[in-house]
Amino acid sequence: MLEKLAEIEQVGLATLAEIADEAALNQWKVTHLGRSSAIMDLFKNMGEVSKEERGAVGREANQVKQALEAALTQKMAALREVALRRSLSQERLDVTLPGRAIPRGRLHPVTQTLREIYRVFADMGFQVYRSREVETDEFNFQLLNFPPHHPAREMQDSFYIQSQEERGDNPILLRTHTSPGQIRAMREYSAENPENPPPVRIILPGMCYRYEQVSARYESQFTQVEGLAVGRNITFSNLKGTLSDFARRMFGQNVRARFRASHFPFTEPSAEMDIECFLCGGEGCAVCKSTGWLEILGCGMVHPTVLKNGGYDPERYTGFAFGMGPERITMLRRKIEDIRYFWANDLRFLEQF
Ligand SMILES: [Zn+2]
Repeated sequence: MLEKLAEIEQVGLATLAEIADEAALNQWKVTHLGRSSAIMDLFKNMGEVSKEERGAVGREANQVKQALEAALTQKMAALREVALRRSLSQERLDVTLPGRAIPRGRLHPVTQTLREIYRVFADMGFQVYRSREVETDEFNFQLLNFPPHHPAREMQDSFYIQSQEERGDNPILLRTHTSPGQIRAMREYSAENPENPPPVRIILPGMCYRYEQVSARYESQFTQVEGLAVGRNITFSNLKGTLSDFARRMFGQNVRARFRASHFPFTEPSAEMDIECFLCGGEGCAVCKSTGWLEILGCGMVHPTVLKNGGYDPERYTGFAFGMGPERITMLRRKIEDIRYFWANDLRFLEQF
């Protein structure tokens, strides 16, 4: 019997030594220490052992069982140690690696330009006035002194909301410029005090829509920033002073500006403002077409008819207005050659700003 016990211990320890993973270890535990293992069988059948031997066999059996259990505990710890070492070496963190950048959203390049324009005009006392994008022909054209069949209408082909049959003589359309907001703002201000309407100092930013042949230079949607100042004794030199100051604040303290005569139905006289080309310093380059000047905005004194349509007496009030294209300014400053990039939602473009 004692020999059998020695064999049980020997076989148990030998097989245990060969085990290399936890699943095999669990199996070993069932085989060598489980309910139907050889050692447990021996305890169950202790009654068959003679009285003389029973004491010695019992002690020995207990020792074998304890030895097997101790060996099992040791093996378990050893396997855990191996597993821990493996996971430490395989999942090692290299703390010297640079961190992964968190993807951050950015402002659209045109929004950045718009905000800069807002800031410059806010410093000069102008407020932002937001007007509707869906307009009537009356506000988009008629009240701004575009008579029906005026040739300038053809330059601003429109997206109409209604079908040809529904249109009538005051069709609804997507605004082709921010100028209808001039009439809405003036009427809102003059309604406060029709006898003595308050001065107006506003800029009107927003999206405009034209039924254009889309190309590198023309988009069917684009933003505009319109400006309007109406009050007593406002003169053309106020216009020149305000816009020259804008040019310096926006494009640099030393930038020169010039005004050229132009024509718009809603201003009289009208002008276009150029600034010295900031790409070549006025030397002449491909962007300024060797002239040294960049066309930045259109402007003029508010036409008396427009003042009247806004509720301001043109005998007592004067004003100036101007309009510019933030896309064009962004293109010039960022050297972007195709206006279609702005609203094509291509992340490869947008992520550069
Ligand atoms: Zn140039």
